[in-house]
Amino acid sequence: MRNWTAETVIRVTKGSLIGNPNLEVQGCILDSRQARGGEMFFALPGERVDGYDYIEVAWKNGAVLAIADEARFKKAETKPNVPEGKALLLVKSVFIALQELAQNWRAELKAKVVGVTGSNGKTTTKDMIYAVLSKQFRVYRNKENNNNELGLPLTILNAPPGTEILILEMGMRGLGEIKGLCEIAKPDIGVITNIGTTHLELLLTQERIAQAKWELVEALPNDGIAIINAEDMFSVQKAKEDSHSICFYGLEGAFVKPNIKGIQLRPWGELGTTFDVNYKDQKMSANLPLPGTHNVLDALAALAVGTVLGVSLDKGCMGLSELELSKMRLEVRQGVLGSVLINDVYNANPVSMQASLEVLKERAGGNKTLAILGDMYELGISAESGHREVGRTLASLGVSGLITVGNLAAEIAQGAQKAGYGKDRIKVTGSHKEAVEKALDLLASWGTGTWVLIKGSRGMRMEEITAKLER
Ligand code: ATP
Ligand code: MG
Repeated sequence: MRNWTAETVIRVTKGSLIGNPNLEVQGCILDSRQARGGEMFFALPGERVDGYDYIEVAWKNGAVLAIADEARFKKAETKPNVPEGKALLLVKSVFIALQELAQNWRAELKAKVVGVTGSNGKTTTKDMIYAVLSKQFRVYRNKENNNNELGLPLTILNAPPGTEILILEMGMRGLGEIKGLCEIAKPDIGVITNIGTTHLELLLTQERIAQAKWELVEALPNDGIAIINAEDMFSVQKAKEDSHSICFYGLEGAFVKPNIKGIQLRPWGELGTTFDVNYKDQKMSANLPLPGTHNVLDALAALAVGTVLGVSLDKGCMGLSELELSKMRLEVRQGVLGSVLINDVYNANPVSMQASLEVLKERAGGNKTLAILGDMYELGISAESGHREVGRTLASLGVSGLITVGNLAAEIAQGAQKAGYGKDRIKVTGSHKEAVEKALDLLASWGTGTWVLIKGSRGMRMEEITAKLER
């Protein structure tokens, strides 16, 4: 972020200041524990804790300026004691102040903004775009999964001066949310990875999900460019009705002919994939340190953003090969009894679970395969059908064994059985402990070389199962 003077912060937020009016801030934080020195701390009310109660901690840890709701301050019995040289700014709404400051910095930054949304693969694609673009530009991106109405403005505020490209992941649970994020971010390029079946609790139909994601394209300026998955039927349909320039990416057999195409996918190393990329009359080979066609699609989206911004295919592919991976997404670990574990416990929905099952089969080659699958949350009225669909895929792929964990995941077993999968290959369990016991029994009887996939929603804490099965 630029160095804000207290004076500018007051001007933008129209707040009133108690304490030192001459200070300068560097960096913005929402968590008092992240203060290192010189920050502006936004005392936001949270679900579990109230930032207001941590103002003094933030100052003690090094923050120089705290922003709090005026009404909260007036109501409070104890008022924070502003230390020498520091300041407290009282505003109508800390939440709005955060957004206004971000809008202000976005307008001043001479950066191009790339927005990334979709049902699956947003974080992955964001990190791949970073890998491609940082070969040529000064790039800044959101940390981890910071993709909501707090994480997005915070990322913008922390973008250093001189940033040439800002990559922002945009999450959403309902209509209007992406639109709101775009009002702050003002994206120039919009990437939609796919329009799947997540968040059906709030968005009842697929059409409305498509509409909600398309808000990103609608927010682009006339000369903005949308990067669209040519394999996603809903995206292709929306693209037909849109007047923006569109760069399609995809594999062979996509719904529309992609501008940038990946062909001849083949395994590379323990978990990687090599594929060829075709763009206009160029052809390059890319080594991606991740398995599965879904990751190749995300990589193609990243290369498309690169080509649109003038990064050569050559440089883009080099960037991809150096990709740094986030934790808990498709990690390979050595398991007990000579097994190989695919730890993919970060989160799950039907689309991503089916993608991971395909990876399991592909990587195991001729070896036996075991899927330990936990509940998938947030599917609303599609909870039952979503779990059953995963069961059907598992059966058609011919995974050797299935252990389900939780009540919802039991529907995966139902789906598999309905598709003709033998009952004797399924263990339905209700706890981590029981699942681990069943897995150990199977691994012992099957002998070495079995590949095991462990996956479920974040709340299922499936990593505890991985920990018990790791060598
Ligand atoms: P969140 O909504 O939690 O932010 P996200 O959209 O950022 O999720 P990622 O965290 O990148 O998604 O990936 C989550 C999982 O989705 C991965 O582990 C992988 O299994 C799967 N996935 C990634 N890319 C795709 C894709 N293009 N299509 C289908 N599944 C994908
Ligand atoms: Mg994400």
